[in-house]
Amino acid sequence: MKRIYLDHAATTAVDSEVMQAMAPYFAEAFGNASSLHSFGKDASRALGAARQTVADALGAGMGEIFFTSGGTESDNLALKGVMMAGGVGRGERGHIITSAIEHPAILNTCRYLEGAGHGCDVTYIPVGSDGLVDPGDVADAIRDDTKLISIMHANNEIGTIQPIAEIGAIARKNGVLFHTDAVQSFGKTEIDLRKIPVDMLSLSSHKIYGPKGVGALYVRDGVEIAPLMHGGGHESGLRAGTENVAGIVGFAKAAMLAIERFAPDCSHLTKLRDMLIKGTIAAIDDVHLNGHPTERLPNNANLRFDFVEGEAMLLHLDVKGIAVSTGSACSSASSEPSHVLLALGLAPEEIHGSIRFTLGRENTEEEILYVLDVLPEIVGKLRAISPIAGGKR
Ligand SMILES: *Cc1c(COP(=O)(O)O)cnc(C)c1O
Repeated sequence: MKRIYLDHAATTAVDSEVMQAMAPYFAEAFGNASSLHSFGKDASRALGAARQTVADALGAGMGEIFFTSGGTESDNLALKGVMMAGGVGRGERGHIITSAIEHPAILNTCRYLEGAGHGCDVTYIPVGSDGLVDPGDVADAIRDDTKLISIMHANNEIGTIQPIAEIGAIARKNGVLFHTDAVQSFGKTEIDLRKIPVDMLSLSSHKIYGPKGVGALYVRDGVEIAPLMHGGGHESGLRAGTENVAGIVGFAKAAMLAIERFAPDCSHLTKLRDMLIKGTIAAIDDVHLNGHPTERLPNNANLRFDFVEGEAMLLHLDVKGIAVSTGSACSSASSEPSHVLLALGLAPEEIHGSIRFTLGRENTEEEILYVLDVLPEIVGKLRAISPIAGGKR
Protein backbone atom coordinates (compact mmCIF):
# COMPACT_ATOMS: atom_id res chain seq x y z
CA MET A 1 0.00 0.00 0.00
CA LYS A 2 1.08 3.54 -0.76
CA ARG A 3 1.91 5.44 2.42
CA ILE A 4 1.34 9.18 2.68
CA TYR A 5 3.10 11.09 5.43
CA LEU A 6 1.22 14.21 6.54
CA ASP A 7 2.81 14.67 9.96
CA HIS A 8 5.80 16.90 9.20
CA ALA A 9 5.31 18.98 12.34
CA ALA A 10 6.21 15.85 14.32
CA THR A 11 9.32 15.04 12.33
CA THR A 12 10.61 14.83 8.76
CA ALA A 13 12.61 12.31 6.74
CA VAL A 14 16.30 13.11 6.36
CA ASP A 15 16.94 14.60 2.91
CA SER A 16 19.24 12.47 0.73
CA GLU A 17 21.65 15.41 0.25
CA VAL A 18 21.79 15.77 4.04
CA MET A 19 22.57 12.08 4.39
CA GLN A 20 25.38 12.40 1.84
CA ALA A 21 26.85 15.43 3.60
CA MET A 22 26.88 13.56 6.91
CA ALA A 23 28.29 10.23 5.72
CA PRO A 24 32.04 11.09 5.81
CA TYR A 25 31.76 12.22 9.44
CA PHE A 26 30.72 8.73 10.54
CA ALA A 27 33.64 7.19 8.63
CA GLU A 28 37.02 8.63 7.67
CA ALA A 29 36.36 12.07 9.20
CA PHE A 30 35.42 10.74 12.64
CA GLY A 31 37.74 13.01 14.65
CA ASN A 32 37.00 14.82 17.88
CA ALA A 33 36.81 18.52 17.04
CA SER A 34 38.85 19.34 20.17
CA SER A 35 41.85 17.21 19.11
CA LEU A 36 44.93 19.02 17.85
CA HIS A 37 45.93 16.52 15.14
CA SER A 38 44.68 16.46 11.56
CA PHE A 39 41.66 14.27 12.42
CA GLY A 40 40.58 16.83 14.97
CA LYS A 41 41.24 19.71 12.62
CA ASP A 42 39.05 18.15 9.91
CA ALA A 43 36.21 17.83 12.42
CA SER A 44 36.69 21.32 13.79
CA ARG A 45 36.76 22.79 10.28
CA ALA A 46 33.46 21.02 9.50
CA LEU A 47 32.00 22.36 12.73
CA GLY A 48 33.09 25.90 11.87
CA ALA A 49 31.63 25.67 8.37
CA ALA A 50 28.34 24.35 9.80
CA ARG A 51 28.20 27.18 12.32
CA GLN A 52 28.78 29.72 9.56
CA THR A 53 26.02 28.14 7.44
CA VAL A 54 23.46 28.21 10.26
CA ALA A 55 24.48 31.78 11.18
CA ASP A 56 24.10 32.91 7.54
CA ALA A 57 20.68 31.23 7.33
CA LEU A 58 19.49 33.44 10.20
CA GLY A 59 21.37 36.65 9.44
CA ALA A 60 23.42 36.08 12.59
CA GLY A 61 27.12 36.03 13.44
CA MET A 62 29.03 32.76 13.78
CA GLY A 63 29.76 33.49 17.44
CA GLU A 64 26.05 33.71 18.16
CA ILE A 65 25.21 30.08 17.22
CA PHE A 66 25.45 27.34 19.87
CA PHE A 67 24.76 23.75 18.86
CA THR A 68 22.55 21.67 21.16
CA SER A 69 20.77 18.31 21.12
CA GLY A 70 17.61 19.87 19.65
CA GLY A 71 14.71 22.20 20.18
CA THR A 72 13.95 20.99 23.70
CA GLU A 73 17.49 21.64 24.94
CA SER A 74 17.65 25.01 23.17
CA ASP A 75 14.40 26.09 24.86
CA ASN A 76 15.63 24.89 28.28
CA LEU A 77 18.99 26.61 27.81
CA ALA A 78 17.39 29.91 26.85
CA LEU A 79 14.96 30.05 29.77
CA LYS A 80 17.02 28.49 32.56
CA GLY A 81 20.23 30.05 31.22
CA VAL A 82 18.88 33.60 31.41
CA MET A 83 17.37 33.08 34.86
CA MET A 84 20.52 31.49 36.26
CA ALA A 85 22.77 34.16 34.76
CA GLY A 86 20.55 36.75 36.46
CA GLY A 87 20.99 35.10 39.86
CA VAL A 88 17.36 33.98 39.94
CA GLY A 89 16.87 31.24 42.53
CA ARG A 90 19.96 32.46 44.46
CA GLY A 91 18.34 35.39 46.25
CA GLU A 92 17.07 37.16 43.15
CA ARG A 93 13.54 36.74 41.83
CA GLY A 94 12.66 36.84 38.17
CA HIS A 95 9.55 37.03 36.02
CA ILE A 96 8.98 35.35 32.65
CA ILE A 97 6.23 36.18 30.17
CA THR A 98 5.22 33.42 27.79
CA SER A 99 2.06 32.31 25.98
CA ALA A 100 -0.53 29.67 26.82
CA ILE A 101 0.13 27.81 23.56
CA GLU A 102 3.88 27.21 23.75
CA HIS A 103 5.46 23.83 23.06
CA PRO A 104 5.85 21.65 26.18
CA ALA A 105 9.61 22.34 26.03
CA ILE A 106 8.80 25.92 27.04
CA LEU A 107 5.68 25.34 29.16
CA ASN A 108 7.14 22.59 31.30
CA THR A 109 10.40 24.52 31.73
CA CYS A 110 8.31 27.46 32.97
CA ARG A 111 6.39 25.19 35.36
CA TYR A 112 9.72 23.90 36.68
CA LEU A 113 11.05 27.43 37.15
CA GLU A 114 7.86 28.40 39.02
CA GLY A 115 8.47 25.54 41.45
CA ALA A 116 9.77 25.93 44.98
CA GLY A 117 13.24 27.42 45.28
CA HIS A 118 13.66 28.48 41.66
CA GLY A 119 12.59 32.07 42.29
CA CYS A 120 10.43 32.56 39.19
CA ASP A 121 6.99 33.89 38.47
CA VAL A 122 5.50 33.19 35.07
CA THR A 123 2.69 34.97 33.24
CA TYR A 124 0.96 32.92 30.56
CA ILE A 125 -0.55 35.27 27.97
CA PRO A 126 -3.83 33.92 26.54
CA VAL A 127 -4.50 33.85 22.80
CA GLY A 128 -7.55 34.84 20.80
CA SER A 129 -9.81 32.28 19.12
CA ASP A 130 -7.53 32.61 16.06
CA GLY A 131 -4.47 31.63 18.12
CA LEU A 132 -2.79 35.03 18.02
CA VAL A 133 -1.02 36.64 20.96
CA ASP A 134 -1.93 40.33 21.32
CA PRO A 135 1.38 42.27 21.69
CA GLY A 136 -0.50 44.76 23.89
CA ASP A 137 -1.13 41.96 26.42
CA VAL A 138 2.61 41.25 26.48
CA ALA A 139 3.39 44.94 27.10
CA ASP A 140 0.81 45.07 29.92
CA ALA A 141 2.32 42.01 31.62
CA ILE A 142 5.83 43.51 31.94
CA ARG A 143 6.90 44.12 35.56
CA ASP A 144 10.04 45.59 37.14
CA ASP A 145 11.46 42.10 37.64
CA THR A 146 10.57 40.75 34.16
CA LYS A 147 13.76 39.22 32.79
CA LEU A 148 12.52 37.36 29.74
CA ILE A 149 9.69 37.18 27.23
CA SER A 150 9.43 33.87 25.34
CA ILE A 151 6.80 33.65 22.62
CA MET A 152 6.99 31.01 19.90
CA HIS A 153 7.26 32.12 16.27
CA ALA A 154 4.86 29.54 14.81
CA ASN A 155 2.75 27.04 16.69
CA ASN A 156 3.36 23.33 16.10
CA GLU A 157 -0.32 22.33 16.35
CA ILE A 158 -2.26 25.08 14.58
CA GLY A 159 0.53 26.76 12.57
CA THR A 160 -0.40 30.25 13.73
CA ILE A 161 2.45 32.73 13.21
CA GLN A 162 2.91 35.27 16.00
CA PRO A 163 3.86 38.93 15.47
CA ILE A 164 7.38 38.44 16.87
CA ALA A 165 8.79 41.65 15.37
CA GLU A 166 6.25 43.68 17.36
CA ILE A 167 6.71 41.63 20.52
CA GLY A 168 10.49 41.90 20.19
CA ALA A 169 10.24 45.68 19.82
CA ILE A 170 8.18 45.85 23.03
CA ALA A 171 10.76 43.72 24.85
CA ARG A 172 13.62 45.86 23.63
CA LYS A 173 11.88 49.12 24.57
CA ASN A 174 11.41 47.79 28.10
CA GLY A 175 14.92 46.38 28.45
CA VAL A 176 13.64 42.79 28.63
CA LEU A 177 15.24 39.88 26.74
CA PHE A 178 13.18 38.20 24.03
CA HIS A 179 13.39 34.51 23.10
CA THR A 180 11.41 32.81 20.35
CA ASP A 181 11.01 29.11 19.54
CA ALA A 182 11.38 29.05 15.74
CA VAL A 183 11.52 25.27 15.43
CA GLN A 184 8.40 25.14 13.24
CA SER A 185 8.82 28.42 11.37
CA PHE A 186 12.40 28.10 10.14
CA GLY A 187 12.40 27.33 6.41
CA LYS A 188 8.69 28.18 6.13
CA THR A 189 8.72 31.87 7.04
CA GLU A 190 11.33 34.55 6.53
CA ILE A 191 13.64 34.96 9.52
CA ASP A 192 16.31 37.65 9.33
CA LEU A 193 17.81 38.49 12.71
CA ARG A 194 19.32 41.68 11.29
CA LYS A 195 15.76 42.95 10.91
CA ILE A 196 13.87 41.63 13.92
CA PRO A 197 14.76 42.35 17.56
CA VAL A 198 15.16 38.79 18.84
CA ASP A 199 17.77 38.03 21.51
CA MET A 200 17.55 34.24 21.47
CA LEU A 201 16.03 31.77 19.02
CA SER A 202 15.64 27.97 19.09
CA LEU A 203 16.01 25.65 16.10
CA SER A 204 15.72 21.89 15.65
CA SER A 205 17.24 19.88 12.81
CA HIS A 206 14.70 17.05 12.53
CA LYS A 207 11.84 19.42 11.68
CA ILE A 208 13.72 20.64 8.57
CA TYR A 209 14.74 17.31 6.94
CA GLY A 210 17.88 16.98 9.08
CA PRO A 211 18.80 14.28 11.61
CA LYS A 212 17.19 13.99 15.06
CA GLY A 213 19.08 14.97 18.20
CA VAL A 214 20.61 18.21 16.87
CA GLY A 215 19.56 21.83 17.12
CA ALA A 216 20.87 25.26 17.89
CA LEU A 217 20.27 28.21 20.13
CA TYR A 218 21.02 31.63 18.69
CA VAL A 219 22.17 33.99 21.44
CA ARG A 220 22.63 37.60 20.43
CA ASP A 221 26.10 39.00 21.12
CA GLY A 222 26.25 40.44 24.64
CA VAL A 223 23.31 38.45 26.07
CA GLU A 224 24.38 36.72 29.29
CA ILE A 225 23.28 33.13 29.78
CA ALA A 226 24.56 30.39 32.08
CA PRO A 227 25.27 26.83 30.85
CA LEU A 228 23.17 23.83 31.88
CA MET A 229 25.89 21.31 30.98
CA HIS A 230 29.27 21.54 32.68
CA GLY A 231 32.36 19.78 31.39
CA GLY A 232 34.87 20.62 28.67
CA GLY A 233 34.84 24.07 27.09
CA HIS A 234 32.77 23.09 24.05
CA GLU A 235 30.49 25.65 22.40
CA SER A 236 32.40 28.52 24.06
CA GLY A 237 31.69 27.01 27.47
CA LEU A 238 27.93 27.23 27.02
CA ARG A 239 27.30 23.58 26.24
CA ALA A 240 29.89 21.01 27.29
CA GLY A 241 30.13 17.64 25.57
CA THR A 242 31.94 16.38 22.47
CA GLU A 243 30.13 17.82 19.49
CA ASN A 244 27.90 15.60 17.35
CA VAL A 245 29.89 16.55 14.25
CA ALA A 246 28.00 14.36 11.75
CA GLY A 247 24.65 15.53 13.13
CA ILE A 248 25.70 19.17 13.09
CA VAL A 249 26.98 18.90 9.51
CA GLY A 250 23.63 17.35 8.53
CA PHE A 251 21.69 20.05 10.35
CA ALA A 252 23.68 22.79 8.58
CA LYS A 253 23.10 21.13 5.21
CA ALA A 254 19.37 20.93 5.98
CA ALA A 255 19.35 24.61 6.96
CA MET A 256 21.15 25.53 3.73
CA LEU A 257 18.65 23.54 1.66
CA ALA A 258 15.76 25.18 3.54
CA ILE A 259 17.08 28.60 2.52
CA GLU A 260 17.83 27.57 -1.08
CA ARG A 261 14.42 25.96 -1.54
CA PHE A 262 12.47 28.53 0.47
CA ALA A 263 10.43 30.08 -2.36
CA PRO A 264 9.54 26.88 -4.23
CA ASP A 265 8.87 25.00 -0.96
CA CYS A 266 6.53 27.70 0.33
CA SER A 267 4.54 27.96 -2.88
CA HIS A 268 4.29 24.16 -3.19
CA LEU A 269 3.18 23.76 0.45
CA THR A 270 0.71 26.63 0.30
CA LYS A 271 -0.88 25.17 -2.81
CA LEU A 272 -1.28 21.71 -1.28
CA ARG A 273 -2.48 23.13 2.04
CA ASP A 274 -5.17 25.23 0.40
CA MET A 275 -6.22 22.33 -1.79
CA LEU A 276 -6.63 20.18 1.32
CA ILE A 277 -8.49 22.81 3.37
CA LYS A 278 -10.82 23.96 0.61
CA GLY A 279 -11.38 20.45 -0.71
CA THR A 280 -12.29 19.08 2.72
CA ILE A 281 -14.64 21.93 3.58
CA ALA A 282 -16.31 21.64 0.17
CA ALA A 283 -16.78 17.85 0.42
CA ILE A 284 -17.81 17.48 4.05
CA ASP A 285 -20.33 19.42 6.16
CA ASP A 286 -19.46 20.79 9.60
CA VAL A 287 -15.70 21.08 9.13
CA HIS A 288 -13.80 24.10 10.47
CA LEU A 289 -10.23 25.36 10.29
CA ASN A 290 -8.47 25.73 13.68
CA GLY A 291 -6.05 28.65 13.99
CA HIS A 292 -5.62 31.82 12.01
CA PRO A 293 -6.72 31.60 8.35
CA THR A 294 -3.83 33.65 6.92
CA GLU A 295 -1.18 34.15 9.66
CA ARG A 296 -0.41 30.51 9.23
CA LEU A 297 2.44 28.20 8.26
CA PRO A 298 2.23 27.17 4.60
CA ASN A 299 2.17 23.47 5.56
CA ASN A 300 -0.42 23.39 8.36
CA ALA A 301 -4.07 22.40 8.03
CA ASN A 302 -5.61 21.76 11.44
CA LEU A 303 -9.23 20.77 10.77
CA ARG A 304 -12.08 20.22 13.17
CA PHE A 305 -14.70 17.65 12.20
CA ASP A 306 -17.88 17.98 14.26
CA PHE A 307 -19.35 14.75 15.68
CA VAL A 308 -16.18 12.75 14.98
CA GLU A 309 -13.65 11.18 17.34
CA GLY A 310 -10.23 12.34 16.12
CA GLU A 311 -8.41 9.27 17.39
CA ALA A 312 -10.78 6.97 15.49
CA MET A 313 -10.28 9.10 12.40
CA LEU A 314 -6.50 8.93 12.76
CA LEU A 315 -6.68 5.13 12.89
CA HIS A 316 -9.02 4.91 9.89
CA LEU A 317 -6.67 7.20 7.92
CA ASP A 318 -3.71 5.07 9.01
CA VAL A 319 -5.45 1.99 7.58
CA LYS A 320 -5.59 3.89 4.28
CA GLY A 321 -1.85 4.62 4.60
CA ILE A 322 -2.28 8.25 5.63
CA ALA A 323 -0.33 9.51 8.66
CA VAL A 324 -1.77 12.51 10.55
CA SER A 325 -1.95 13.52 14.18
CA THR A 326 -4.46 14.62 16.78
CA GLY A 327 -3.41 17.26 19.30
CA SER A 328 0.38 17.12 19.31
CA ALA A 329 2.62 14.09 19.03
CA CYS A 330 4.14 14.79 22.43
CA SER A 331 0.81 14.28 24.15
CA SER A 332 -0.59 11.58 21.89
CA ALA A 333 -0.12 8.97 24.60
CA SER A 334 -2.67 10.77 26.74
CA SER A 335 -6.22 11.66 25.82
CA GLU A 336 -5.95 15.02 27.60
CA PRO A 337 -7.37 17.66 25.27
CA SER A 338 -4.64 19.73 23.62
CA HIS A 339 -3.67 22.81 25.67
CA VAL A 340 -3.36 24.76 22.42
CA LEU A 341 -6.90 24.01 21.25
CA LEU A 342 -8.22 24.63 24.78
CA ALA A 343 -6.54 28.06 24.69
CA LEU A 344 -8.50 28.86 21.51
CA GLY A 345 -11.65 28.44 23.59
CA LEU A 346 -12.74 25.17 21.98
CA ALA A 347 -14.87 22.67 23.92
CA PRO A 348 -13.37 19.24 24.70
CA GLU A 349 -15.60 17.49 22.11
CA GLU A 350 -14.49 19.99 19.45
CA ILE A 351 -10.87 19.35 20.37
CA HIS A 352 -11.33 15.59 20.15
CA GLY A 353 -12.63 16.02 16.60
CA SER A 354 -9.56 17.96 15.46
CA ILE A 355 -6.95 16.52 13.12
CA ARG A 356 -3.59 18.05 12.24
CA PHE A 357 -2.32 17.59 8.69
CA THR A 358 1.21 18.96 8.24
CA LEU A 359 2.61 18.81 4.74
CA GLY A 360 6.16 18.45 3.51
CA ARG A 361 8.39 19.03 0.55
CA GLU A 362 7.87 15.54 -0.86
CA ASN A 363 4.06 15.53 -0.78
CA THR A 364 2.27 15.70 -4.12
CA GLU A 365 -1.06 16.89 -5.50
CA GLU A 366 -1.97 13.25 -6.22
CA GLU A 367 -1.53 12.46 -2.53
CA ILE A 368 -3.83 15.31 -1.49
CA LEU A 369 -6.41 14.17 -4.04
CA TYR A 370 -6.24 10.67 -2.53
CA VAL A 371 -6.81 12.12 0.96
CA LEU A 372 -9.76 14.14 -0.32
CA ASP A 373 -11.06 10.96 -1.90
CA VAL A 374 -11.03 8.84 1.27
CA LEU A 375 -11.94 11.48 3.89
CA PRO A 376 -15.70 11.81 3.22
CA GLU A 377 -16.28 8.08 3.58
CA ILE A 378 -14.33 7.86 6.85
CA VAL A 379 -16.11 10.88 8.32
CA GLY A 380 -19.47 9.51 7.17
CA LYS A 381 -18.84 6.14 8.79
CA LEU A 382 -17.74 7.67 12.07
CA ARG A 383 -20.65 10.09 12.17
CA ALA A 384 -23.05 7.22 11.53
CA ILE A 385 -21.91 5.50 14.72
CA SER A 386 -21.44 8.72 16.74
CA PRO A 387 -23.76 9.06 19.73
CA ILE A 388 -23.51 12.87 19.49
CA ALA A 389 -24.01 13.24 15.74
CA GLY A 390 -27.80 12.91 16.04
CA GLY A 391 -28.03 11.09 12.73
CA LYS A 392 -25.87 13.69 10.98
CA ARG A 393 -23.83 12.36 8.04
C1 LIG B 1 9.53 19.73 17.89
C2 LIG B 1 9.48 21.00 18.63
C3 LIG B 1 10.35 21.25 19.72
C4 LIG B 1 11.27 20.20 20.27
O1 LIG B 1 12.37 19.97 19.43
P1 LIG B 1 13.20 18.59 19.59
O2 LIG B 1 14.36 18.78 18.68
O3 LIG B 1 12.28 17.49 19.17
O4 LIG B 1 13.60 18.51 21.03
C5 LIG B 1 10.28 22.47 20.34
N1 LIG B 1 9.43 23.42 19.90
C6 LIG B 1 8.60 23.23 18.87
C7 LIG B 1 7.71 24.32 18.43
C8 LIG B 1 8.59 22.01 18.20
O5 LIG B 1 7.75 21.82 17.19
